[in-house]
Amino acid sequence: MAYARYGEEMRLQTVPNAGGVFGADVKSGLGGLGGSPDGPLNVVHVFWIAGMSCDGCSIAATGATNPSVEDLLLGRIPNLPKVVLHHPVLSPGAGGEFIRPFRQAVNGELGAPYVVVLEGSVPDDQAFPTEYGYFSAMGAGGFDPESETDQPNRVTDWLWKLAPGAAAYIAIGTCATWGGIPAAAGNITGSMSLTDFLGEDYRSALGVPVVNIPGCSPVGDNFTETVAAVLLFLQNLAPVPKFDELGRPAWLFTETVHRHCPKAGYYEEGVFAEEFGDNQCLVEIGCWGPVVQCNIVERGAINHMGGCMVAGGACIGCTMPGFPDKYSPFYKAPPGSAISGGISKVTGGGIRRLRRLSMKTGNRTGIWDNAHEVPSGWARAHGKKGPLDSVNSYFYKKLQYHGSVNHAARNKKQPLPQSRDILRQKGVDLNRSVDVLGERVKSRKEL
Ligand code: SF4
Ligand code: SF4
Repeated sequence: MAYARYGEEMRLQTVPNAGGVFGADVKSGLGGLGGSPDGPLNVVHVFWIAGMSCDGCSIAATGATNPSVEDLLLGRIPNLPKVVLHHPVLSPGAGGEFIRPFRQAVNGELGAPYVVVLEGSVPDDQAFPTEYGYFSAMGAGGFDPESETDQPNRVTDWLWKLAPGAAAYIAIGTCATWGGIPAAAGNITGSMSLTDFLGEDYRSALGVPVVNIPGCSPVGDNFTETVAAVLLFLQNLAPVPKFDELGRPAWLFTETVHRHCPKAGYYEEGVFAEEFGDNQCLVEIGCWGPVVQCNIVERGAINHMGGCMVAGGACIGCTMPGFPDKYSPFYKAPPGSAISGGISKVTGGGIRRLRRLSMKTGNRTGIWDNAHEVPSGWARAHGKKGPLDSVNSYFYKKLQYHGSVNHAARNKKQPLPQSRDILRQKGVDLNRSVDVLGERVKSRKEL
């Protein structure tokens, strides 16, 4: 697995195939993971843990379609291992039955590799003794099966105990990746990101730092696609996934949302919405898209549909480490937008007008140009060019075709087709009334 750190390419542990990693060289499996010495993985456990979370990431992940969670759970992707999901809401088991595999993983007794997924930020409850309580818990009875108690197990204890043996640690959503809303100004729980909690030196059993898939809520496909990409790589079936310097899948989070926004053309032409519901670029009413790394407009919110600007919403920077404080107050023009928007209004406004000329020309055939009319019953005025149009178009064409060939000009030598306007030539009276199905229909004049 490789990741770029501040421009420098670093190669982590090379994994020819998972069998080699988990079983062939290390009898008990790397980090007590077990695994098969005979070849690729058959099964991978995923432990889903919720910290300071609203469960929105779970909902987003279950809405993923390409691949879907069901594809991963049922092993429907050829040659990928089957995923066994342990999820506090989705798993059918409860109580001790649900918690047992977590304990087995902590104790190195699971007998199969596991990945930990955290949704929600990590509260600072390790700062005080267990008897003082917790901010977020999962299961009860302590971590030593021999000395069970009825006290809830703090999520933060699960997180640090599962860390050394995990094949990978994935933070899903902006709370887990950067701290998010629980870590906003006034952070009374001391909430932080998973990377802050585990520290920059953390490496999983496969040598991978925390993988971060941000978004509030994230695009579900971003999560399932990353899981699939990592699993394909482990099976030696796909190239090494690339992550950026913050552990984001580079192929999903390198571009700004603005570059792929359906309203980007309006921005470029300097046309801006004044209120929500307007069709134009939303930068003047609070869109941060030009400086936010997010792929929601090309990937869609769910099933390749929707996504903020596609649905008319301005970007509030929810995938970014500075969210929410650096993007607040929401729905107010971002700083700097007056300068960039102003420049765009001046340059874009000029370019837009020139494009209208080109569009007008492109909406006519060579025959219509030569006949100086458009034979459309929809708008007869179309064919007539005003004197200003002619002057503009003359100078614009000079500019447009400077150094290249104006192929359309050759049409001027083309004679007009003789059978143009054939009904008029044949003397067909279109103004007489006609009977349709025995009823008299009004003539055009009567209409
Ligand atoms: S709506 Fe936002 S992302 Fe889209 S073009 Fe305008 S500024 Fe860019
Ligand atoms: S477009 Fe902005 S607000 Fe919407 S998901 Fe992406 S980062 Fe979040």
